[in-house]
Amino acid sequence: MAAKILDGKKVAEEIKTSLKEEVTRLKARGLTPGLAVVLVGEDPASKVYVKQKEKACEEVGFASQVYRLPEDTSEESLLQLINELNDDRAVHGILVQLPLPGHLDANQVIQAINPAKDVDGFHPFNVGRLAAGLAAPVPCTPRGIIHLLEAYNIPIAGRHAVVVGRSNIVGKPLAQLLLARDATVTVCHSKTGNLTSFTRTADILVAAVGRPRLITRDMVKLGAVVVDVGINRLPEGMVGDVDFEAVREVADYITPVPGGVGPLTIAMLLRNTLEAALAGQGGGPPGE
Ligand code: NAD
Repeated sequence: MAAKILDGKKVAEEIKTSLKEEVTRLKARGLTPGLAVVLVGEDPASKVYVKQKEKACEEVGFASQVYRLPEDTSEESLLQLINELNDDRAVHGILVQLPLPGHLDANQVIQAINPAKDVDGFHPFNVGRLAAGLAAPVPCTPRGIIHLLEAYNIPIAGRHAVVVGRSNIVGKPLAQLLLARDATVTVCHSKTGNLTSFTRTADILVAAVGRPRLITRDMVKLGAVVVDVGINRLPEGMVGDVDFEAVREVADYITPVPGGVGPLTIAMLLRNTLEAALAGQGGGPPGE
């Protein structure tokens, strides 16, 4: 029997509907959540993502500002903009779209963001808090994946989760979140030998690699839950890291691409921003 679809688009719409209601209540109290998005350069995929984020902010009633800076922006002027946004009381969340052009040091830029406004959860302060099990803004894609699993009542505790990919954006923070929910977690990466020997033992298999259809049917255990984070633009259209049609024959649950993890990522960015706005009222970094 073909796997059930984990419908990220539907779940994201539900989140946005409830956020919209919450924003209406907050606005009545004089608080409009504000997100500043900074895009440097002309990367076509980044431009699409920024547009989607801008549209989502509008949908739920946030005040969003997008700063589109030229490719040759200096680190100094980018850091200056971030400082201004850090000081701007109407801005609760700051997101610098990655990747940055090669002459800019993403680590420096991320560290310049006030951790309380770091709605991507990439600042080392927040990375450390997450690792220590403390409240922190959680990176949007991993948070979205957990939300999707929970929305479908998929148990995590005690199950073997295999995460393929160890990026700071997806793989590592997702491993932390799964661990915090009592999964047994294996993280695989480009230097993992015999990937199949790991993926075949996964109850929950997450592919966050960026290789079209890397995960084939023979790599998936019967009855597994398969989450495909990959976004690969091919001439025939967008595909994930999972060979969807073949893998859905063996999995119990599977996310489609598009319409799976992507919409949840944006919904979680909105939620992180709203939470930053609420925390900002009391002052201090999130969770304190
Ligand atoms: P990345 O390039 O930073 O990391 C890729 C990871 O895959 C690395 O850890 C690497 O070790 C591993 N890897 C590479 N080749 C491998 C192989 N053959 N076998 C096993 N592991 C291998 O990528 P990222 O930022 O984590 O993104 C991964 C994918 O997810 C990309 O396609 C990206 O576009 C997509 N993505 C989607 C969303 C979303 O919202 N849906 C969000 C973020 C990233």
